[in-house]
Amino acid sequence: MALSERLSLSDLQQVAPGFQRGDSSAWNDSATPTQAELAECLFFSPGDGRIWLNDQRMLLMHASSFGALRRELIGALGQERARGLLTRVGYLSGVRDAELVRKRWPQADAAAIFAAGTRLHGLEGLVRVEPLHFEFDIEQGRYGGEFLWHHSAECDEHQIAHGQGSDPACWMETGYAIGYVSSLFGRLVIFREVECRAMGHHVCRVEGRNAERWPDVEEDLRYLNAAGADTPDTTTARLPALLPLAAAGQPLVGASAAFNTAFRALQRVAPTPATVLLTGESGAGKELFASHLHRLSRRADGPFVALNCAAIPENLIEAELFGVERGAFTGANQSRAGRFERAQGGTLFLDEIACLSLPGQGKLLRALQEREIERVGGSRTLKVDVRVIAATNLDLREAVRRGDFREDLFYRLNVYPIGIPPLRDRRDDVPLLVDLFLRRFCAAYERPPVGLTMRALKALLRYDFPGNVRELQNLVERGVIASDPGELIDLPHLFRGEPLPDDLAAPAPAVDWLTRLGVDADRPLHLGQLEAELLDEALARSRGNVAAAARLLGLSRAQFAYRHQRARRHGARELD
Ligand SMILES: [Zn+2]
Repeated sequence: MALSERLSLSDLQQVAPGFQRGDSSAWNDSATPTQAELAECLFFSPGDGRIWLNDQRMLLMHASSFGALRRELIGALGQERARGLLTRVGYLSGVRDAELVRKRWPQADAAAIFAAGTRLHGLEGLVRVEPLHFEFDIEQGRYGGEFLWHHSAECDEHQIAHGQGSDPACWMETGYAIGYVSSLFGRLVIFREVECRAMGHHVCRVEGRNAERWPDVEEDLRYLNAAGADTPDTTTARLPALLPLAAAGQPLVGASAAFNTAFRALQRVAPTPATVLLTGESGAGKELFASHLHRLSRRADGPFVALNCAAIPENLIEAELFGVERGAFTGANQSRAGRFERAQGGTLFLDEIACLSLPGQGKLLRALQEREIERVGGSRTLKVDVRVIAATNLDLREAVRRGDFREDLFYRLNVYPIGIPPLRDRRDDVPLLVDLFLRRFCAAYERPPVGLTMRALKALLRYDFPGNVRELQNLVERGVIASDPGELIDLPHLFRGEPLPDDLAAPAPAVDWLTRLGVDADRPLHLGQLEAELLDEALARSRGNVAAAARLLGLSRAQFAYRHQRARRHGARELD
């Protein structure tokens, strides 16, 4: 695992100005991010079966099930390899959590950022961390720390299954600490469990310091290095959600099941010469898939040429596709090659294929079948070696039934259809995409890196995105422009000047009425009094119109009049 890719020293300094050196004495409980602020990042979305920690999807798993998994891993792989695997899984969590803290609290004090890892580790239910001391010096690149781990979940499970032994058992926790601190620090910091309950100690104790300051660090590195494992490692092999850059310079991003299904289909067909039909809603990323398919194909060195048939007037599409001979029609002053010729040896991507006229469809069919074309107004036959990827957001079968699309062409194109899922069916990719677009637009607009407020993020995770990935991209770009540099992007920045979509406007701030009314034990509420005040206010706002005041409070006129009279009698009695 290349730690240097995670965070460079300059990134860290950029993230936290003045972040040079410090220690645990500079940190106190009330420093941001506090325990409560971190806990606020955790939210449940049971309606759609998801739990989020900020923008990361989480799992709530029984500790005993984890114990069973761990036992099976040890049984199947042996203790050493199981330990490596779990250390690396913990490492990934640590890296993710460090990203979370950096993103949400870019201005937080350095010691508090380091300490946040101990609290997130606790929030996630693995262990209660008690920092004994830690100190760091960015310039010198030195880190040192010592922590106690109380009631580690992994330790409990290990002891249930294996009893006491001579080796530490908190593997995932150790990996987590290494991942969190190393990715924050930009250097490899190795944590080692020097005492463990699984070895008979009272409490687990860990020490962390720079890799070069440990003797025999190869031992620790062995567990971290997946490449050294003698079997294909699934924990790291699946980690890169960012696939290589597509031709357009934009990576194809996704980790969701729906995305993976489409991507696997794409990988399967890419090296074959087959014609591919991409189907999916507008904005779902069909061109990105197409260019990626091209890059994975044997034609990757050839050109990738795209044409959106909907963007060109119907009478010009044929000329655009097949080229023109001089004098073919008014304005054709010189001969020029069409997209087919320009895609020679490469891939031609035809978006919105259903917009092609029936004569154009006939020529396309011929090009696909005979591998030859004729320019408009020409009589010469040109051989073409082009792979066609077509795309549509319409139901082509339906177009065939209506007589708008040639059936033979449909079957010629529909050799290997791939459905590109709409963004609402791959919600798990929203955080990845938000992160990608944030980084892109912050760089483009020369802004410091920023994140989203909690409510903006929650809103995006609930939103249906009728415009798909393109809409999300536009929202993030708008958010970056509308917010001040360094300011977290909030809902009004994203949906600037537009009414909030219904599915976002619904969730009210989760403040209960008693809090809003400032009620507590010292300031109790008098319910009758509150009712009387509401009635009076409604009446005042309605300028004495009882019917209007009643409507404001959801009462009939008679109900309002009755309550109002009762309140006044009650008030008069209290005054006596
Ligand atoms: Zn332990």
